[in-house]
Amino acid sequence: MDAIAEADVGEVSELVRPAGFPNQKAKAIVDCCNILKSEYGGRVPDETEELLKLPMVGRKTAACVRSYAMCIPAICVDTHVHRIANLMGLVKTKTPEETEFALMEITPEDRWNDINRYLVRHGQVVCRPNRPQCHICKIASMCDSCTL
Ligand code: SF4
Repeated sequence: MDAIAEADVGEVSELVRPAGFPNQKAKAIVDCCNILKSEYGGRVPDETEELLKLPMVGRKTAACVRSYAMCIPAICVDTHVHRIANLMGLVKTKTPEETEFALMEITPEDRWNDINRYLVRHGQVVCRPNRPQCHICKIASMCDSCTL
């Protein structure tokens, strides 16, 4: 954390370039490290409300940090989770944030951390945007949008 807090934003930008928006992300990463050092004693907070105070951290990022890095139950709703949960008819929501809260209502907390990794993979391989492969989908019988 110390090294990144003191790093040149331009150098960090080159490192994160493959992830897109490198300049914005690099500045946020360096700023985050400085804030974590000065305001959180050098540790990453585990409370959602505290994570949301950090630069460029929204609910999706906060949930991913809690779920993947800290193993705290959280539902990280990206575009795949939001899209597939609505396609299947599990939720009827307009925004990822609404989807997060709706999924929390209908799923047991001890499975929240599975939702992102299962639905992201499903969205990349089977239920692709604009080209859902319903003929090979294992959950077709549970889906309101199955085209078969
Ligand atoms: S049945 Fe089709 S639309 Fe439904 S989840 Fe499977 S691939 Fe997606």
